[in-house]
Amino acid sequence: MLKLQNYINGVLTPPASQHYFQSLNPATGKAHAEVPDSDARDVDMACVAAEAAFLKWRDLGHEKRAAYLIRLAQLIETHAARLAHAESVDNGKPLKLAQHVDIPRAAANFNFYGTGILHYASESHAMEGMALNYTLRQAVGVVGCISPWNLPLYLFSWKIAPALAAGCTVVAKPSEITPYTAFLLSELCIEAGFPPGVLNIVHGYGQRCGDAIVRHPLIKAISFTGGTATGKHIAAVAAPEFKKLSLELGGKNANIIFEDCDFEAMLKTTLLSSFSNQGQICLCGSRILIQRSIYSTFERAFIDAVKRLKVGDPLNAETQIGAIVSKSHFEKILSYIELAKTEGGTVLCGGSALKLDGACAQGLFIAPTVISGLSPGCRVNQEEIFGPVVTLIPFDTEAEALAIANGTPYGLASTLWTSDLKRAHRVAAALHTGIVWVNCWLLRDLRTPFGGVKGSGVGREGGFEALDFFTEPKNVCIKL
Ligand code: NAD
Repeated sequence: MLKLQNYINGVLTPPASQHYFQSLNPATGKAHAEVPDSDARDVDMACVAAEAAFLKWRDLGHEKRAAYLIRLAQLIETHAARLAHAESVDNGKPLKLAQHVDIPRAAANFNFYGTGILHYASESHAMEGMALNYTLRQAVGVVGCISPWNLPLYLFSWKIAPALAAGCTVVAKPSEITPYTAFLLSELCIEAGFPPGVLNIVHGYGQRCGDAIVRHPLIKAISFTGGTATGKHIAAVAAPEFKKLSLELGGKNANIIFEDCDFEAMLKTTLLSSFSNQGQICLCGSRILIQRSIYSTFERAFIDAVKRLKVGDPLNAETQIGAIVSKSHFEKILSYIELAKTEGGTVLCGGSALKLDGACAQGLFIAPTVISGLSPGCRVNQEEIFGPVVTLIPFDTEAEALAIANGTPYGLASTLWTSDLKRAHRVAAALHTGIVWVNCWLLRDLRTPFGGVKGSGVGREGGFEALDFFTEPKNVCIKL
């Protein structure tokens, strides 16, 4: 079986504990890798290596740092097939999705920040005849990057790339549930000739290894993506130490469908925004709000299309819906479907686990599930399920749609479908989310600010926002 190692100070390193745990393929139930069970000792080694590498990396200059990132992007492209297969086996997502989304995006992240840093500039403020202020943007130092399991290499690289581009050195931890591609990335860093200590990747459980990163005194900033409860805990630990924090957390996104929408385009995209990656994308629209005049037409057409989605072996090119990432998450999703029934919901399709044949007989599959008849305030419509489960909620007026959409503790993203331009602007401005898609979903321009409000997080990633996060502005005032 594959034995993953930490990547510390440029070297593949076993954990101090010498202990490993197994990583399971959720589509087959079989273990495919052993993962280092790292603790505070490994994190300390990584932080010391990152601290020792910091000044040299920063002072290398942005053009040379950029060249390393672009070289890494090229290596990801060269090894794309292997990385996509690893992502699918580790996570249960359709191989096709990993090939077309996850891995190309990981390469794009390094390319984007490798070239982005070349265009990053700071301001000056002239006090005519009196003084000149200029802003130095200085790398904050050693930073911690902690990422979740749903888009493993995609989100891992989304944090690491801007941190390295900005001149920081990094101690990073992927999710213990999907560590495989992060390990392959460490091999590619070695192949790319990365200087030792610039990027360190430590594997292990959140409460031991992740917690040690958050607490380590050499870590100056933490970029975290994951659940809201974890984010709250990290903020409580890091805030008293005045560490910079970027928190990208959970969501309960509304997909608002007005009667004047382009119905065909909406239906096609709503299937994707509901069930892509088994509904395990923080941006999925898990609450579908439909104007009452088209509610029954929508319900009929949507259920018909959902029933035709192909659930199956993630390695099969025909598969649209793969496996749920882990047993505990699988059980959590099923428990929410049961809760929906007790809260008065009607399961219109799906609603249960699926047993497949052959290699996937022990896999964790759930049929895409659509539920109606729930009140907007019930738990199923308030709490993040993060699986292939959506609810249908009718509304009459724009004001009512807004009240329902905004009526959760989350505020990550929303989607709205309308042909009325004035309404699009009005509703987009009134939604309490960090991202609004109008007549589209997951259309991403990496230059745009990315992040949520309320329980969905603090701070923004993307574009120069991430470079701002990984640098500290210093004003220098010179008297003329
Ligand atoms: P999680 O919070 O359980 O884990 C995320 C990461 O944090 C993992 O690497 C984990 O090991 C680590 N961790 C756990 N406890 C920790 C601790 N005490 N200290 C430090 N690190 C710790 O989240 P998950 O289940 O892996 O991911 C799913 C969640 O991520 C969902 O809520 C989803 O909405 C969210 N998410 C948000 C975004 C976004 O951009 N806003 C993107 C993807 C996923």
